[in-house]
Amino acid sequence: MTRKLDVLIAGAGIGGLAAAASLLVRGHHVRVFEQSPKLGEVGAGIQVSANGVKVLYDLGLKDALEKVVVRPQAFEFRRYDSGELLQRMPLGASHEEAFGAPYYHVHRADIHAILAAKVMELAPRAISLNARAVGFEEGPQGVTLLLEDGSRHSGDVLVGSDGIKSAIRKGIMGETPAIYTGHVAWRATIPKERLPADIMEQVVTLWCGPKNHAVIYWLCSGQVLNFVGCVEHEEWEEESWTLKRPWGELKAAYEGFHPDVQTIIDAIDKDQCYRWAMNNRKPVHNWSTQRTTLLGDAVHPTLPYLASGAVMAIEDGAVLARCLSGDEDIPAALQRYQRNRSDRTARIVNESTEHGSFYHITDAEEMKRAFAERNITKSRAEWLYCYDPLQVELV
Ligand SMILES: Cc1cc2nc3c(=O)[nH]c(=O)nc-3n(C[C@H](O)[C@H](O)[C@H](O)COP(=O)(O)OP(=O)(O)OC[C@H]3O[C@@H](n4cnc5c(N)ncnc54)[C@H](O)[C@@H]3O)c2cc1C
Repeated sequence: MTRKLDVLIAGAGIGGLAAAASLLVRGHHVRVFEQSPKLGEVGAGIQVSANGVKVLYDLGLKDALEKVVVRPQAFEFRRYDSGELLQRMPLGASHEEAFGAPYYHVHRADIHAILAAKVMELAPRAISLNARAVGFEEGPQGVTLLLEDGSRHSGDVLVGSDGIKSAIRKGIMGETPAIYTGHVAWRATIPKERLPADIMEQVVTLWCGPKNHAVIYWLCSGQVLNFVGCVEHEEWEEESWTLKRPWGELKAAYEGFHPDVQTIIDAIDKDQCYRWAMNNRKPVHNWSTQRTTLLGDAVHPTLPYLASGAVMAIEDGAVLARCLSGDEDIPAALQRYQRNRSDRTARIVNESTEHGSFYHITDAEEMKRAFAERNITKSRAEWLYCYDPLQVELV
């Protein structure tokens, strides 16, 4: 690399930290501004497929990850009441062989802590806390990030990775409210000791129900079970990972589900049920100015039905770092980044939305037919998991 850029990043979520690490390893100077008083993530899991894990491995995080992840053997789709297996997508060794990296289940706090430690190893003072971005100003020579406390921070490039309510997005595109999708997600984690020993193998099971589905998988080296309950819910509600709701509402939403699902719901700590209203935005194809760009949920929030929101943010950071490390000037590099990311991210957002209705089919025969007509393993292999953000040709 010939030039070293001074990169400002707003937001230290999984996306912002992955981008920071990807830029730091390429020799850039990076400063990350996070609104929260301390670094952290909520108590829930995520799935990370090979296309994201490759980037994490390239950052040297394999050993740290291996201590905390679960490598699921398969993705199983089951009918909510009978438990009938509708389709099975092999993961484990076959995912790794096909795509060059494993499929992981990881606790959000663990992956976040691993990324934060990497950023601090590369640049111990890179992350500022209590640093809420409110806007930016830019000119031909650079960009200035404006913080709520009145301070101003100048650099060559600004990256908004400040999530769904992004202040940086607002500065680029004006007010573009996120749209409530009519879906909420319950989340809970359950220690293994609270469950029958044989409750579930090391797979991820998606229980497809009439107006709801549940995704259940192991985390933390198999010590914790992660429950995500996606429910169609007409009324808009506050969008927050930290909004607690009564356990009874969760239980009622899954009435009629298989006894295994009931056993898992019964084991959830009654005071630890959180419900998150899920929002979406119509995909956009132009999200950069001359000096400022976006990544992750700030630009393409998605329903989680392809388990790819955080993975997309990790991919974004890797591709952005490649573009900024090339020979083009900064405006051209930012255009190149979004040009190479927009179709893929739009496809993920659109297909994730489409999966909501696919998982929620009431009629048993119709559900069977829908699954029989769709080869999930093949279609995801063809476009989703085979993408390599480190090697893909950039046009
Ligand atoms: C139920 C559910 C399940 C999911 N499962 C998966 C999955 O299995 N796999 C997967 O890949 N994805 C999954 N996702 C999606 C994933 O959680 C998100 O796409 C991902 O967390 C986005 O990361 P981000 O860094 O872009 O944004 P965020 O995680 O929202 O991080 C934004 C950061 O910016 C900070 N911030 C916000 N505003 C400001 C500001 N003005 N100034 C400074 N800092 C600011 C925030 O405090 C935060 O730290 C799921 C989502 C949901 C809702």
